[in-house]
Amino acid sequence: MQRRALLAFSLAAPWVAPRLARPARAQGAAPLPVVASFSILGDMVRQIGGDAVAAHVIAGPDVDAHSFQPRPSDAQALRGAGLLVRNGLGFDAWVDRLARSAGYAGPVATATEGLTPRRLEGGHGHGHSHGHSHGHGGQAAADPHAWQDLRHGRHYAGVIAAALAAADPARADLHRARGEAYQARLAALDAWVRGEIGRVPEARRRVVTSHDAFGYFAEAYGVRFLAPQGVSTDAEPSAAQVARLIRTLKAENITAVFLENMANPATLRRLAAEAGITVQGRLYADALSPPGGPAPSYEAMFRHNVGLLVPAMLGGAG
Ligand code: ZN
Repeated sequence: MQRRALLAFSLAAPWVAPRLARPARAQGAAPLPVVASFSILGDMVRQIGGDAVAAHVIAGPDVDAHSFQPRPSDAQALRGAGLLVRNGLGFDAWVDRLARSAGYAGPVATATEGLTPRRLEGGHGHGHSHGHSHGHGGQAAADPHAWQDLRHGRHYAGVIAAALAAADPARADLHRARGEAYQARLAALDAWVRGEIGRVPEARRRVVTSHDAFGYFAEAYGVRFLAPQGVSTDAEPSAAQVARLIRTLKAENITAVFLENMANPATLRRLAAEAGITVQGRLYADALSPPGGPAPSYEAMFRHNVGLLVPAMLGGAG
């Protein structure tokens, strides 16, 4: 019954949860070593685990995780880890190869497990005509960028909190309580995003970005994204694709054109120049910024992106 009392206490007052870590540490419990495949997952692990985890992030800030080459130090971190957190849906398949080569046999949490992924084939107006897709060739491609919908972000947080609790049973209640507090923050942020996007007339909710990272954002928040580079960053758009997009920009008077932090800006800069459009800034898509930058956390990434998108879409109204 002691355990039950502690759980009730944690649920009733999640804001005191971080204090619970201190007695545990004082008794000698070391932080749980956790490896996260890329920066957004690393942030979630730290938000939930706090002082009770020591997170190693493989694909760090501003790094393109689509085509990533792990370093020897990543294999070493994995050998000492008590938990590996990956996105799945083919986004970070390289981490599976790394885990095999490092001989990692510990638990693996897949943040997208249990989600119904957005499919890339069929039903989408804009071109995913490049040959490369995520994941293992031949499979129907699932869009891996599920974190761009905050409801899915809450799902990620639930998966991570449960995995931390399972890997670190002495502090399971702490991880669950902090996971729930984090999920509540993400729910509030989701409501804020809906309110902000709601200020933009539906006909103005159109944006051009470097690659198709925002499909989930588009469906969740009712914004249409056009991308010359397709859904992965490893394929260059054809001249015909770029020309078609320029015609669309002009015909539909789209002025909200953005770069992404981890994608090659050359194609989009050329496209904007040819269309006579000013690039409005840099969205954070697949990676966070370094700590001093505008998007050092998953939550800050949404505030930054929405803070850029809304005025840019409204600006085209005049
Ligand atoms: Zn991407």
